[in-house]
Amino acid sequence: MTGKAYLVGSGPGGLGLLTMRAREVIDGADVVLYDQLPGEEVLSTLPEGAELIDCGKYGGNHTLEQHEIEALMVERVREGKTVVRLKGGDPFLFGRGGEEIEVLREHGIQVEVVPGVTSAIAVPEMVGIPVTHRRYASQVTFITGHEDPTKPESALDWGVLARLKGTLVILMGVKNLLAIAAALTEHGKDPQTPVAIIERGLRPDQRVTVGTLADIAKKARTVGVRPPAVIVIGGVVNLYDEGSVPGGTRASREGREDAKNKAGDR
Ligand code: SAH
Repeated sequence: MTGKAYLVGSGPGGLGLLTMRAREVIDGADVVLYDQLPGEEVLSTLPEGAELIDCGKYGGNHTLEQHEIEALMVERVREGKTVVRLKGGDPFLFGRGGEEIEVLREHGIQVEVVPGVTSAIAVPEMVGIPVTHRRYASQVTFITGHEDPTKPESALDWGVLARLKGTLVILMGVKNLLAIAAALTEHGKDPQTPVAIIERGLRPDQRVTVGTLADIAKKARTVGVRPPAVIVIGGVVNLYDEGSVPGGTRASREGREDAKNKAGDR
């Protein structure tokens, strides 16, 4: 008997953005390896009969290393189990899903990938910020902020990134925000470029901090910004809608505003 592995994206948080295929695959799992990024709402619906492995807290408080997660997946599939590796957002965007599928294939394991709604687009979207817009941005670049831009071995070319005209979306960038903003402005990006930080997008305690490249790091420190957060840099940030609430759409809010204004006119 041989098992099967699934690399599953949970979406950015909340059951509403979990795909039907993800739900189906999760519900049929013998083993689910997860971390905290999918969020409480999704994690509270993992199948009770399955072996649930919290990769952040395995056997007490030990955080599983990447190679240990991969080894566990291989082991369980070899035992004939249906194994789900559940990841926040989409499994192939900065989620190490690419590495995991390589390892599984090396072991000759059958793998299915279930795409998810990525936080890189959905989290800004839910506060009214489109990552592209005909007037503001005809391109968008997704960047990992995990790397310290001041380190010479950085895989990112900040000179090139600073010259790009479109939107920059940075994931995992909270810790290095000051260095990232400095690297971009040092390489010539306008310090007045708008920046938005959306923390815990689509969660009840979502918070948005808006500024410019020049002042965002200071603002973030003042309010105590913490991961997970998506950082958006570019003109599209001007479309940020303060009144947005998870689950609400701009159009429906505008409808309400119109109704309110009309009522006021009378
Ligand atoms: N594969 C994921 C990204 C993994 S990297 C995806 O497609 O969304 C982890 C980073 O994703 C976090 O550091 C943060 O930058 C971002 N992130 C994921 N979910 C988020 C959420 N609900 N709110 C804000 N940021 C989120």
